[in-house]
Amino acid sequence: MKKEKSAAIVLAAGQGKRMNSKIQKQYLLLKGKPVLYYSLKAMEESFIDEVVLVVGAGEEEYVKQEIVQPGGFHKVKKIVTGGKERYHSVANGIRAVSEDTDYLYIHDGARPFLEKEILERARTCVHQYKACVVGMPVKDTIKIADDDGFGTLTPDRSRVWMIQTPQVFDFSLIKTCYEKLTAQEEELIKQGIKITDDAMVVETFSAVPVKFTEGSYKNIKITTPEDMKIAELFLDGAAEN
Ligand code: C5P
Repeated sequence: MKKEKSAAIVLAAGQGKRMNSKIQKQYLLLKGKPVLYYSLKAMEESFIDEVVLVVGAGEEEYVKQEIVQPGGFHKVKKIVTGGKERYHSVANGIRAVSEDTDYLYIHDGARPFLEKEILERARTCVHQYKACVVGMPVKDTIKIADDDGFGTLTPDRSRVWMIQTPQVFDFSLIKTCYEKLTAQEEELIKQGIKITDDAMVVETFSAVPVKFTEGSYKNIKITTPEDMKIAELFLDGAAEN
């Protein structure tokens, strides 16, 4: 029997406007290493066979010389250029993934705390359900605001999850859904639909339900300056253990 082949896309082509920093968040240093280093390291030490890294235009060589080669990240087989929105970057990444891939793990390079256990849980989940995203139940009450900033809806908190990455799919399923998205992008934009994660692409373009599995409350996305402080505390904790 053919060995299962797992590929990952690691996304690092965002502008990180909410960080208010000249350096993009994925290149900021955490304990002397760029944020992006940590998820590439987790991938390198995992069962993932190949990594496609997606970076901003003009950053390909810098990332190769300064992060991929010094880190010894041999699983990074291709470094490709991202696009304007996250979903453009994913679509570019998918085109670079090997055709014989069985499962695709899509991960934000801005999430440095990708633990082995999260990847394992996602793997078990995708074997059963074909489409799985990691996340955690919310701790706060979530409210939906109307156009004027007044509350209109309070969903039952026990059913609300904050969604993280990796988001993991049967490769042919996610490839087909992204091809449909590319073909119908203009229509979605006209309808005011904003695609913010991969699960949404599968929900929109297939009938396959997306299963949630537990990530971790530590699996944060570095977005604003205070996230860097929190990440440093997490790394201090890891050093003490
Ligand atoms: O913008 P957001 O914080 O949701 O980005 C999540 C991840 O997607 C980040 O790792 C970011 O670098 C990546 N991204 C990308 N291309 C974009 C926008 C975001 O690769 N156009």
